[in-house]
Amino acid sequence: MLLLALDQGTTSSRAIAIDASGEAVAAASRPLAARYPRPGWVEQDAGEIWSTQRDAAAEVLAALGDRAERIAAVGVANQRETVVLWDRATGEPLGPAIVWQDRRTTPACRRMIDRGLEDDVRARTGLRLDPYFSATKAAWLLDDTEGLRERALAGEVALGTVDAWLLWNLTGGRVHATDVTNASRTLLLDLASGSWDEALCDRFGVPRAALPEVRGSLSFFGEVGSADRGLEPLRGVAVRGILGDQQAALLGQGCLGPGPVKCTYGTGCFLLTHTGPTPPASENRLLATAAAGGPGEAFALEGGVFVGGAVVQWLRDQLGFAETTREIAALAASVPDAGGVVLVPALAGLGAPHWDPDARGSVQGLTAGTTKAHLCRAAIDAIACQVAELVDAMAADLGDGAATELRVDGGASANDGLMQLQADLLRMPVVRPRRLEATALGAAVAAGVGAGVWDSLEAAVGRCTPGADRFEPRMDEAEAHRLRGRYAEAVARCRGWNDGR
Ligand code: ADP
Repeated sequence: MLLLALDQGTTSSRAIAIDASGEAVAAASRPLAARYPRPGWVEQDAGEIWSTQRDAAAEVLAALGDRAERIAAVGVANQRETVVLWDRATGEPLGPAIVWQDRRTTPACRRMIDRGLEDDVRARTGLRLDPYFSATKAAWLLDDTEGLRERALAGEVALGTVDAWLLWNLTGGRVHATDVTNASRTLLLDLASGSWDEALCDRFGVPRAALPEVRGSLSFFGEVGSADRGLEPLRGVAVRGILGDQQAALLGQGCLGPGPVKCTYGTGCFLLTHTGPTPPASENRLLATAAAGGPGEAFALEGGVFVGGAVVQWLRDQLGFAETTREIAALAASVPDAGGVVLVPALAGLGAPHWDPDARGSVQGLTAGTTKAHLCRAAIDAIACQVAELVDAMAADLGDGAATELRVDGGASANDGLMQLQADLLRMPVVRPRRLEATALGAAVAAGVGAGVWDSLEAAVGRCTPGADRFEPRMDEAEAHRLRGRYAEAVARCRGWNDGR
């Protein structure tokens, strides 16, 4: 029996066929481009989100040949918060996908904060009034095209996060649904009950008629009915698991209840811990969110930073420091330290625990001796310093229940220097599973439990948990303290930079 995991990330769409022991049997990936039409704006082409995902899946199916018949179910993990609007009649996207990193709705959020609405929104949704989340992005799209809002009210327009868009396309336009983990990132879901909150829909100006149905993450979502070329072997196979990528990674890392903490180092970095059947209340500017399960059944505490591995891409693509990510990592490793340079990658404002959409990035401590290698090293240092801030905030929230090690995954966790520095800064071991992306594994586990490949999440995780590499703290404590202190000073100087001047 095989499971097909679709992992639709910010930078690529991946498909992986996984067997009942969690081993990858075939995998394919397609890069996904982003556009930056104005400062702070980040868009993707919704058609391309689907076509890259479809092509990655088709490549895996072709590689499997006859074995594709053994696929028992499809699981989906996806970049969260990104919003797509499409025409229910034609399935055509109505405007660009506005990506989670996009800051264009900062003024709309500020107006709501000024009206004193943030505490109520936080109590209902577990989130903050930040442009990161979907609701203000959806309202922006509805307002941007004349007549669209009226069409949405009339039920002609479908709105969704990336999971809903993929599901719509996978089922040939037959199902408009989302899972509770994705819905919990929109600012429109009542977190405790796991159902859309009518008052919030009104407040954000998002017509209820445009929203997908909310289902549990391990539900039957529909059968693949797409007529697209290359997907023929999947026709009639059930989609049985859908999760936001961070909740998928939490599952894939075997975090099924309170205790362990995981961090995924992708485009951004996201720290999550499962908090069981009760929504957590953070006193340290973290978020409460849904974890894999039925609506209102399972929750997690989360802290995320918007620019993690993305700072490495920025050095590569915008500054042209090297051709490949690997070369940037090698440059960073070629110097003993950053030579006093501190880089704050607030390229999309600051997320947890600062929540400042007007923060902007900075580089400080330049001298005539500063080289590209120092800047690359400062970027790696920044990733580790940001995650250390998140771990501190989470430890403050959890008190005695705080984690004693960090489970890591995601593209940038492949960087040994970064993982060693992370252990050094946190003064705790960092544990990296040797096999397979946790996100894809989480999607496969969700789908496989639904399809009966495993009896329970516990059984699935028990079968699939691989060996791991461990990074133990080595750096002198005073040095770790000094690095973190300099970084905190630099962050303070970045706050509120985008003040309209
Ligand atoms: P996503 O799911 O968000 O698309 P991935 O988990 O695929 O992200 O990770 C890709 C990110 O990891 C990119 O931002 C890339 O720059 C970063 N990355 C990949 N390899 C390394 C490395 N060796 N060192 C640092 N960052 C890396």
